[in-house]
Amino acid sequence: MSSEEKVRSRAAAGSVGTVQILGVPVRLHFTFILLLVFLLFIGIGGKQSGAMTALYILGLFASVLLHELGHTLAARHYGIRTTEIVMYPIGGVSRPERPPVAREELPIALAGPLVNLLIACVLAGLVASQQGFVALERLMEPTDANLAERLALGNLMLFLFNLLPAYPMDGGRILRSLLALRMPQDRATRIAASAGQWLAILMGLAGLLWGNFILMFVALFVYLGAFQEGALARGRQFTAGYPVRAAMMTDFRTVEHGQTIRDAGNLLLTTSQHDFPVVHGTSVVGLLTRAALVRAMLNEGPDGYVAGAMDRDFIKLKPDTPLTEALPQISTPGACALVMDDDGKLLGILTSEKLSEFLLLRQAAEAQHRIHPA
Ligand code: ZN
Repeated sequence: MSSEEKVRSRAAAGSVGTVQILGVPVRLHFTFILLLVFLLFIGIGGKQSGAMTALYILGLFASVLLHELGHTLAARHYGIRTTEIVMYPIGGVSRPERPPVAREELPIALAGPLVNLLIACVLAGLVASQQGFVALERLMEPTDANLAERLALGNLMLFLFNLLPAYPMDGGRILRSLLALRMPQDRATRIAASAGQWLAILMGLAGLLWGNFILMFVALFVYLGAFQEGALARGRQFTAGYPVRAAMMTDFRTVEHGQTIRDAGNLLLTTSQHDFPVVHGTSVVGLLTRAALVRAMLNEGPDGYVAGAMDRDFIKLKPDTPLTEALPQISTPGACALVMDDDGKLLGILTSEKLSEFLLLRQAAEAQHRIHPA
C-alpha cells in the first residue's frame, strides 16, 4: 500500500470528494454540503441574484479554506506535516501528523484566525478606497452591491468566533497552550474541552430561544468536538505510565477453530464475554466477535464452524506496550484486541469495555487521593 493509499484509507468517515492544496488532501464533510444547500436556499429570494449568492457562499468557503491553510503553513514552519483538512460546517479541521507541543500550538492556532482578519482588512480597505466607509446597517440586507462588505464582515465574524476560548475553536487551543505552560497538557486539554462543552450548551440554549437554526447546528458540532477531545485527553491522562497488561482481561474463555457456532453461542450465553479468541492447539488463529457469531448463526446456522466465522485479521497488542499508544485502536465502542507475547502466547484480551472500566477506576483512585492524600 503506498503512503497515499494509506492516508486515503484513514480518511475521516463521512467525507466526500478530495482536492490537493499545498500537498494536503482537503476533504468535504457531507454535512458541509448540507449547509451549502441550506445557505443557498435561504439566500435565494432575497434582493441578491442567485449568481451573487453562490459567489458569496464560495467566498466564505474560500475564507475558511484559507484559514486552514494558515494553520497548515504555520505547522509546516515547525516541521509538522498536515495529513488532511476536513471541511465541516463550523469550519475546517486540520489534522496534524503529530500534536504540536504547547510552544508550537500557540502560533499555529493563531495563524488561522489571523488569515481571516487579514482578508477582512484587505476587503474593507478595498471597499473604503472605492466608495468610503459604509454604514453597518446596510450590510444586514444582502444585495449584489455589498458583496465585498459582507465578505469582510463574514471574515471578521470568523476571526472572532474562532478566538472564543473554548475547544475545539482555535481560541480553545490558545487557551490550552497557555494553560499547558503551568500544568500537564492533558489536564489543560480537559479544561479547554469542558469550556467548549459549556459554550456549546449556552449557544444551543440561545439558538433555541431565538429560534436560530444555524446557531443550534453550530452548538451541536462544538459540543461533539469538545466531548471527543475531552474523552481522548481523559484517556491519555489516566492511562499514562500503564502498560496494556494493566487493563487486560486475564480470566477468559477461548474456542477451538473446529467447534461449532452452537458451541460458541452457548459460551456467549453462559459467560460475560462478548469476543472469543479462536485457538488451534496452542496457537491463536483468529477472533470470534459477538457480531460475527450472530452473523454466522444467521447465514450458516448453528452447525457452521467457528473457523468460517472468525476474523483472522484482528488487533494484536504486546503486554508491555504503553496503554496510551493502544488507545486509538481500542477506544471505539466494541473494539477488542488480543494481547500476546513475542512467542504468540495468548495472555489476555483488551476490550473497549475493559478500558473504560480501567479509566473509571483510575479516575476514582485519583479523586480519592485528592480527598485523602496519603
Ligand atoms: Zn482554525
